[in-house]
Amino acid sequence: MTNCIFCKIIEKQLPSDLIHEDDKIIVFKDIRPKAKVHLLIVPKEHIKSLAETNTKHATLLAHMLLALPELAKAQGLAHGFRTVINTGVEGGQEIDHIHFHLLGGGILPKM
Ligand code: AMP
Ligand code: ZN
Repeated sequence: MTNCIFCKIIEKQLPSDLIHEDDKIIVFKDIRPKAKVHLLIVPKEHIKSLAETNTKHATLLAHMLLALPELAKAQGLAHGFRTVINTGVEGGQEIDHIHFHLLGGGILPKM
């Protein structure tokens, strides 16, 4: 989608610190990390937010969810990690292309 930063990263029109890519998702490091490990799991399909998803997205959402423990393991997060999905303005979502945050490395502050 035009003017979407994450679509541009997916299209390689913008650089990223790429960790993983497959037919459905791309995973790269967050440019402003909030933890020692801070990755973004982003689907190649432009979907605005979790609020826009429905049963048509079940396979994709499961793929994104199941990527988390594998990525955490590959990043050495043997003692746990946090997953965040900011949704909409009041949920603090800045980029309107759905993404999961994977955070870890040390004890994270209580929510
Ligand atoms: P959210 O607030 O959930 O929409 O999160 C958006 C995240 O994208 C923030 O944590 C930003 O630091 C991150 N971000 C923004 N632009 C880039 C970029 N070009 N490369 C990597 N991460 C980015
Ligand atoms: Zn997009």
